[in-house]
Amino acid sequence: MAYIEPAPIKDKENPLESMMERFNIAAEKLGLSDEVYNVLKNPAKQVIVSLPITMDNGKIQVFEGIRVIHSNILGPAKGGIRFAPDVHIDEVRALAAWMTWKCAVVDIPYGGGKGGVRCNPREMSKGEIERLVRAYTMAMIDVFGPDKDIPAPDMGTGPREMAWLMDEYSKAKGMTVSSVVTGKPLVLGGSLGRTEATGRGVMVSALAAMQKLKINPFQATCAVQGFGNVGSWAARLLEERGLKIVAISDHTGAFYNEKGVNIVEAIEYRDANGGNLEGFTGGEKMLDPADLLTLDVDVLVPAAVEDVITIHNVNDIKAKLIVEGANGPTSAKADAIINEKGIMAVPDILANAGGVTVSYFEWVQNRLGYKWTADRVNRRSDRIMKDAFDTVYQTSLKYEVPMRIAAYIVAIDKVAKTYTFRGGF
Ligand code: NAD
Repeated sequence: MAYIEPAPIKDKENPLESMMERFNIAAEKLGLSDEVYNVLKNPAKQVIVSLPITMDNGKIQVFEGIRVIHSNILGPAKGGIRFAPDVHIDEVRALAAWMTWKCAVVDIPYGGGKGGVRCNPREMSKGEIERLVRAYTMAMIDVFGPDKDIPAPDMGTGPREMAWLMDEYSKAKGMTVSSVVTGKPLVLGGSLGRTEATGRGVMVSALAAMQKLKINPFQATCAVQGFGNVGSWAARLLEERGLKIVAISDHTGAFYNEKGVNIVEAIEYRDANGGNLEGFTGGEKMLDPADLLTLDVDVLVPAAVEDVITIHNVNDIKAKLIVEGANGPTSAKADAIINEKGIMAVPDILANAGGVTVSYFEWVQNRLGYKWTADRVNRRSDRIMKDAFDTVYQTSLKYEVPMRIAAYIVAIDKVAKTYTFRGGF
């Protein structure tokens, strides 16, 4: 399964507006000055380039490449590169800002960035994609850098593309620079523990929240939407900690088992079945897979796609706790109702930040020229996730706001304070 690093916010309404709605509430609660508000609202740098590529048929095709650095106040920018036909600067701006808040919530020394190339990788040959990655890297040679801006995979890119990016950048610099990009294959300096990192962070967040809600994991039930990297790891680790996972799903359907789905068996089945759950017999196939979201469970983990908890189904949600493994699974409008119902929602910018945390560890290891054991990676990322949860929880009590707004408050406050100390022109 592809490793996708911090990615799609994509509230269908408008990603930028959806992000700004939450940003504005948090800024008001914090009493952020107009000056700092304007600094944080606007991206620090936006670069658009044209990339002429010789296609396999010998013709030259020009692609548009984008890189946005929303903020480099806390440190070098960090964020994925998306290869998709509909990449748009507005979306990239929103995603870059979102990375700023995500890194600040988990207190890692990065700003936020994001990149995109408007192309359809599914219709391109390996050679064409390689030439495009290398051209994009060269066009951004003064933007990228281990101390400036560190890309990673996102939709349509993976370890293979990151290896080409690292190689092209290294050639231009005349030395191997592994730390210019994360999400590399292990042999090129990728980190142990990265594959399970996001699901693991979801598990840590869920257990911390259950403790606050006084839900005993050994008596709790859970439903997980999405059985890819994040969902299957979250399900597996939560099951190991005592929860009964009564329902799982992927794009082929949802499966319910009152006694609990055996997650290890489900993973084995998926891996032997072309990566999907079609035909799985460890649970009863649900007539409407969307009903998984409204099951009477203690914990709900949306870990598939954006915008699944919306104004249309939010009133039927029965879970006491929602832990957002996916990016943007809850629409801005559904938020208010979740809060009215008294459901605790651990927001994506906190719950799925285990991924970027271990990407940060990859960069640290590359710079040290040293490899950590999986055990060390897991211990350190668990600690970061638990500390971040506690900080956000305390903030939600202090400002009497839901966890989502509290996470934005923690992030904006950190960036704003750092900016104030550093000073402007
Ligand atoms: P993935 O491609 O490995 O898995 C996605 C899963 O969702 C698949 O099982 C797919 O079948 C399923 N799915 C798709 N549409 C569905 C639907 N309508 N209903 C139910 N299931 C559906 O992707 P992933 O890496 O697990 O990412 C999942 C989400 O987590 C995305 O929103 C991603 O942006 C976010 N995220 C991932 C990481 C990471 O490290 N992988 C980090 C942060 C956030």
